[in-house]
Amino acid sequence: MRRLHLPILGAAVTLLALAPWLAGSFVVSLLNDIGIGALVAMGLVLLTGVGGATSFGQAAFVGIAAYASAWLTTTQGLSPWLGLLFALLLTGVSALAIGMLTLHLGGHFLPLSTIAWGLSIAILFGNVEELGRHTGLSNIPPLHVGAWSLADPRAMYYLIWVLVGLALLFCYNLLRSRPGRAIRSLRGGSVLLASVGADALRVRLTLFIIAALLAGLAGWLYAHMNRFVSPAPFDMRASIEYLLMAVAGGVGHLIGALAGSGVVLALKNGIQDVLPLFTQRAGQIESVVFAALFIALMHFARGGVMGSALRWRRRLGAPLAAMPPDVELLAAPLPRRDMPTGGEIVLSVQGAVKRFGGLVAVSDVSFDVKAGEIVGLIGPNGAGKSTLFNLLTRTLRMTAGQVRFMGRDISGMSQRQVARLGLARTFQHVKLRPHMSLLDNVALGAYARTHVGVLRAGLRLNRSEERRIMQEARRQLDRIGLSGRAHELAGSLPLGTQRILEIARALAADPILLVLDEPAAGLRRQEKIALSDLLRKLRDEGVTILIVEHDMDFVMKLVDRLVVMNFGAKLVEGAPAAVRADAQVQAAYLGSAA
Ligand code: ADP
Ligand code: MG
Repeated sequence: MRRLHLPILGAAVTLLALAPWLAGSFVVSLLNDIGIGALVAMGLVLLTGVGGATSFGQAAFVGIAAYASAWLTTTQGLSPWLGLLFALLLTGVSALAIGMLTLHLGGHFLPLSTIAWGLSIAILFGNVEELGRHTGLSNIPPLHVGAWSLADPRAMYYLIWVLVGLALLFCYNLLRSRPGRAIRSLRGGSVLLASVGADALRVRLTLFIIAALLAGLAGWLYAHMNRFVSPAPFDMRASIEYLLMAVAGGVGHLIGALAGSGVVLALKNGIQDVLPLFTQRAGQIESVVFAALFIALMHFARGGVMGSALRWRRRLGAPLAAMPPDVELLAAPLPRRDMPTGGEIVLSVQGAVKRFGGLVAVSDVSFDVKAGEIVGLIGPNGAGKSTLFNLLTRTLRMTAGQVRFMGRDISGMSQRQVARLGLARTFQHVKLRPHMSLLDNVALGAYARTHVGVLRAGLRLNRSEERRIMQEARRQLDRIGLSGRAHELAGSLPLGTQRILEIARALAADPILLVLDEPAAGLRRQEKIALSDLLRKLRDEGVTILIVEHDMDFVMKLVDRLVVMNFGAKLVEGAPAAVRADAQVQAAYLGSAA
């Protein structure tokens, strides 16, 4: 996310504020529709573009809110403002329920179930007597702000666009916060989020509810602007139209929601106006022409309106918006854990067994790691190192045995709980968010040490905590010598440096034990030396390290103690020199390609 240019923002706001005075009533009501569409599309930009979950049922949430407020204000005679509360409550609860039922299914289940949901809600509206069946509900009262009536579309215009502006600001703030970093990491998978102590399912559910609430707000505005609701505007076609808006705008950009809503609605209206000039069967081919134009648009501007705008700006040589200045305000450091004293047993593995069907990948392995040591876990390819690593971090369930961490039995805990206790890990196949800055990637690591939630983040009530997080992230980047590149994108780093960046993310969790899976793989000689120096420095600062490696030379010079595995079992354990001299170890390594 780059900071918006103030002059552009100022011009856009002024233009929007003057529009009702400059434009005719047709344009004003089109702009009202665009604003309402933009709210729904904004939710989809977050859910689909940022979070990677597709919903084909967004119009159902718009409909639930519209009908909720319509019903409450017409049949019960209550105020539309109570209608707003009721509408948001109902959309929020529906999203919570459907999200809890479907979000954990993963894969295609979410899109499929949102289709089922979208279809059934539209059918429901058409069949409930109380909701007016297919005729719908009419005579919905207009909104009032104090004594000011918003019955006039020009008055409604201001309410809609102020809400669009506020929603945009809320989402923008949200994405640049602690919960926002978790949302932006959803595409990295649940194992990544669990490794920093976050619950991917919960993050996704929250995001689903936020998107539904934005749709709900749009539905409420719709009901009181049109003063009439019927099932058709909330059916499957409408849901797809909202998705098209998000895609046309550029699915990764919040502003794209506005652009996309504008493009789709202007296109639709344009076709309805122009087509009858050419043919008498305009009504029948309208959607075909729309589809053709939409495909053409996506063909020429694959990244949507925003994607093209950014590309043009780059082509014109305009510098990208300035990065936020690095304010060196000294914030109070984040709270730290009590570290164990040197020699205390930090990790204790007892009789660990893992079977994959008939294959015993880890067979009865026991060893301890003491505070302040670097322990190496080595062995030829296929020895079971990664599997054991996954047992320790609770990424895989153990078949038998026990793992104790800081004296607690963690065998029954989830990966996320173990991470929160202070066991931080990196990945053999790097799991960074390539489109997030180095600083944001590292800041994600401090997730479990901080608390700000969605509401406070969206309202910018997170400033002091955010400063503390950023200061911590900077400190960790400093530790690995990358603070000069804090605002570059992680994806632009060479693979070796990405591995080191993952270590900084793990360090941001203030870990007691750092477990690294093949951190030296793919590194050049110089990089390996730098990594060794870094790990030694960390040990001297009190971090305990367990390192899983394939490269003997690298670990021999680094570690205090070695555990050697072969064919799933522990072969020997001891000081590097003794292990090197061991005949069994030599045989195991000579017998393999290493
Ligand atoms: P290392 O990391 O020491 O190279 P691994 O722990 O990756 O070894 O693998 C140990 C053995 O377990 C190998 O024979 C591998 O094929 C097998 N294995 C690993 N993961 C799985 C899995 N998910 N399903 C079945 N077999 C597996
Ligand atoms: Mg491995």
